[in-house]
Amino acid sequence: MGEIFDYVDELGPTRIIHIHEPTHGLKAVLVVDNVAAGPAIGGLRMAPDVSTRECARLARAMTLKNAAAGLPHGGAKSVLFGDPKMPLEEKERLIRELACALNNEKSYIFGPDMGTDEKCMAWVKDEIGRSVGLPRELGGIPLDEIGATGWGLSQVVDVALRYCDFGIEGARVVVQGFGAVGKHTARFLAARGAKIVAVGDSRGGIEDPSGLDLERLLALKEEGRSVIEYGSGRKLKDPDAIVGVECDIWIPAARPDVVHKDNVERLNTRLVVQGANIPFTPSAEKALHQRAILNVPDFIANAGGVICAAMEYQQMNQTAAFQVIEEKLRTNTEEVLEQVRRKQCLPRDAAMAMATERVKRAMDTRRWALF
Ligand code: NAD
Repeated sequence: MGEIFDYVDELGPTRIIHIHEPTHGLKAVLVVDNVAAGPAIGGLRMAPDVSTRECARLARAMTLKNAAAGLPHGGAKSVLFGDPKMPLEEKERLIRELACALNNEKSYIFGPDMGTDEKCMAWVKDEIGRSVGLPRELGGIPLDEIGATGWGLSQVVDVALRYCDFGIEGARVVVQGFGAVGKHTARFLAARGAKIVAVGDSRGGIEDPSGLDLERLLALKEEGRSVIEYGSGRKLKDPDAIVGVECDIWIPAARPDVVHKDNVERLNTRLVVQGANIPFTPSAEKALHQRAILNVPDFIANAGGVICAAMEYQQMNQTAAFQVIEEKLRTNTEEVLEQVRRKQCLPRDAAMAMATERVKRAMDTRRWALF
């Protein structure tokens, strides 16, 4: 009895559902964290080993991200235990079964996450009619293909530069991770006049202070190759070397915890805008603050993807979704950075306070708050 309530606090979770169908090997967990603002949107992760606690933590991150983005949605996360690379028919059967098992859980809208994709969301939609991140044929907006998160990050950079003493024209940018988020961010920033001086992927990085040719890099990735095969500039053999490349704007767009107490001192930049989720450890964020390097935290900066998904759910088109991302992320960045300026607090603390306040205000409007 006690254990499951170990995770609760003033915001949630409102429901934790364990699903187990031994005859079919279906094992899953859904954590609906908070639904004060509306039905919760959160990814379905397929992985062999995610704990309920981790699922609850990810669900909370979605509550805060959705609230920060001002969406009429709460936060949730689901996990389906299994190898995402299992034979497709088996995967389809498990996902369809899971969707059916959660048919009555109307407060949860499925989205894609690690190990699931638009096809999986189409199966869920077919079973219960509630999912986002759908294929184009079903009204989906392919957010990774169009670069929704990268578009958002470029807007955040634009607003954050008002709090810095340099502009975008000629600003030297380093992007760590050259996937769905990283490459589009580089593309949108270059279009605004920035100079991309280094990019990295899991195999290493490439640096050229006079600027890299993005088209060439994008073509390499298109062919399934690494950025280290660029052919000129300086090769960075160790993926971590990109942390120390001198620049004005440093964009993490790869993995969690890549900057920590042992490498944060090597960062040589003036602005960090977080594309990846939790790319800095808490101590590394403190170190940035002490060195007066401006930092826009992940759930403020990288919310473009989830905003796009929510707009898809409202049957908006791509152009309208980009406008909403622009408007929301610009306003939020301004609000957070104003608080930072006024209170001299950590940007993450300002962002957390803003998001938590919004969740609480939404909770106050619900009938339960009367009793
Ligand atoms: P992706 O798989 O498309 O790209 C990841 C990139 O990071 C790849 O180029 C990979 O080679 C590189 N990489 C992996 N390990 C690395 C390392 N140690 N050093 C340097 N590069 C490394 O993933 P994505 O969708 O671009 O997501 C990147 C990050 O952004 C993740 O943390 C993800 O959770 C987060 N995020 C993504 C979205 C989205 O819309 N896709 C939205 C919000 C947050």
